[in-house]
Amino acid sequence: MKKRVFCDFDGTVAVNDVGNLLFRTFTDGSWRESVERWIRGEISSRTCLEAECALVRATEEELDRFARAQEIDPHFPAFVQQCRENDIPVTILSDGLDFYIERILAKYNLSDVPFFSNHLVLDHGKLTPEFPYFDEGCGKCGNCKIFHIMQAKQPDEHVVYIGDGYSDRWAAEKADSVFAKKDLMKCCREQGIACYEYSDFGDVLEIFPTL
Ligand SMILES: [Mg+2]
Ligand SMILES: [Zn+2]
Repeated sequence: MKKRVFCDFDGTVAVNDVGNLLFRTFTDGSWRESVERWIRGEISSRTCLEAECALVRATEEELDRFARAQEIDPHFPAFVQQCRENDIPVTILSDGLDFYIERILAKYNLSDVPFFSNHLVLDHGKLTPEFPYFDEGCGKCGNCKIFHIMQAKQPDEHVVYIGDGYSDRWAAEKADSVFAKKDLMKCCREQGIACYEYSDFGDVLEIFPTL
């Protein structure tokens, strides 16, 4: 069966949860309240992200430097390469912001890996997130990963999902195979979703051909 891969960005492709680190670095810490409400399911990730962005105090230069200092999983480029050689599409699905995703992918010459995320508008140090896919989604997400999976998936394809966090919990249910770590691992256990536990893309590279 032909495979199609979707992977999360923050904490999965990027070593850090870059979005979260951005708010930890450039706000006073009151972002925490929104994130806790989002995890409890009281607000959408859109509302959460809007609240967090409003708290940021940083220049574009500072944000740019911050993004370019981030690193990716050392085995991710080899994974992308292996998928390409086997004609397997890889798409990044993120409920984070394009601002840092595009800078980090460019740093590693991976700009040709397609991604879907929320969009950040920067205007004189004011951060405003935009949500181009919100209306297509489930209402709980800024950028609904399920929407993109259902949009791209062909009937005869085997969907592989790779992630690490709460923003992956619903997408994982739609996949045929799941690689999970951290909070996503916990969610999969709670929801009874079978998954492979991995620590980095080196593990994914080993298991992937056996799927
Ligand atoms: Mg993540
Ligand atoms: Zn959703």
